[in-house]
Amino acid sequence: MNLHEYQGKELLKQYGVDVQEGVVVENKDKLGEAYQKLKDQTKTDFVVVKAQIHAGGRGKGGGVKLAKNKEEYLEISNDILGMMLKTPQTPGGMDGEGKLVQKILVAEDVYAPDFEANDEIYISILTDREKNANVIVYSTEGGMDIEAVAEETPEKVHKEFVDPELGLLPFQKRKIAFNLGLSGKAFKGMTKFIGNLYKAFTSSDASLFEINPCLRTGDDRILAVDCKVTIDDNALYRHKDIAEMRDESEEDPTEVEAKNHGLSYVKLDGNVGCMVNGAGLAMATMDMIKLYGGEPANFLDVGGTADAARVEQAFRIILKDENVKAILINIFGGIVRCDRVAKGVVEAAGNIDITVPIIVRLQGTNAELGKKIIDESGLKVESAILLEEAAEAVQNALK
Ligand code: GDP
Ligand code: MN
Repeated sequence: MNLHEYQGKELLKQYGVDVQEGVVVENKDKLGEAYQKLKDQTKTDFVVVKAQIHAGGRGKGGGVKLAKNKEEYLEISNDILGMMLKTPQTPGGMDGEGKLVQKILVAEDVYAPDFEANDEIYISILTDREKNANVIVYSTEGGMDIEAVAEETPEKVHKEFVDPELGLLPFQKRKIAFNLGLSGKAFKGMTKFIGNLYKAFTSSDASLFEINPCLRTGDDRILAVDCKVTIDDNALYRHKDIAEMRDESEEDPTEVEAKNHGLSYVKLDGNVGCMVNGAGLAMATMDMIKLYGGEPANFLDVGGTADAARVEQAFRIILKDENVKAILINIFGGIVRCDRVAKGVVEAAGNIDITVPIIVRLQGTNAELGKKIIDESGLKVESAILLEEAAEAVQNALK
């Protein structure tokens, strides 16, 4: 699950990480109030208006703008709030339709008074599965073009691996601050910043933190100006406060609907819809479709209880995708028996208008009986026992 910048900053603050302060506004009527609130907190004249969408590169698309007074602020905020913001990371990129900005963060200008006196640093924390460790990636070249830095001058991007058992050790914090070329107050500030940031990362079960830029201000403070936070969905049950931050309007509507019905669904680009129980079997099914020359349209795990209601819901979700030209149902009857699944498929297919060919492969407990039920149902559903047969039948159906 991804957080908005303002939510990520709230999380960081709970762990003592200093951030660029701001006020969130959803409604244009509240713009004046937000400005006043920020003035009272920060005593700065300039403010930065930042679009809150789940995509980076907002600065490049005109979603982050500096205002030098209240008039400018009102004009900029009125433009950004409600706009369709295109960034290199929104769907379709700068040529796409962009994303609707429903919230803005009105933030203090932390670069003032002397823009040139600041340094933009890049810091991210993520999990390195090959090294069985967390890794802190950092660079002196933070800002809007970190991708280009990594591409053209990879030697400027450093990595510090952290053993999850030992945690981030004091010498590692000092090494990071040293490699970032910091000294004095900024050096000390960075060791504290990185320590708290790492604590926030592990304590919140995050899979990604990206602070870009992390700022060394003219007076040597270290602050998170931007943050991208991704939390491991499987850990959300133990972070109720974070789970409440979910913004479903930023997610794929079909994936949200699937989740609400207890199905895990990921949309893909192919034309063969898949309905499978178990994530491993779903992966194997997608491989098999590819092996026979097809392209899966989705990943869909209906879970352990493939009853009629679930199967029907799964059909509806798969069929929302106009690219789907055939559906392969591959269910292993372990706890749930194949005859029950077969009945579920027949019942669901009777309730909704399905125009594409369906191939059902049932294996496991009562597989033969399940096949019989499908074959005798009178529905235009083809059944198979072997996965190879099923994958071949899909290819024939597409011809
Ligand atoms: P992103 O483009 O989505 O990554 O959004 P960021 O929050 O990183 O902001 C983009 C850029 O806006 C930063 O790299 C800064 O150059 C600029 N920026 C952000 N906050 C401030 C600020 O307080 N003052 C000034 N002058 N510029 C800022
Ligand atoms: Mn950024």
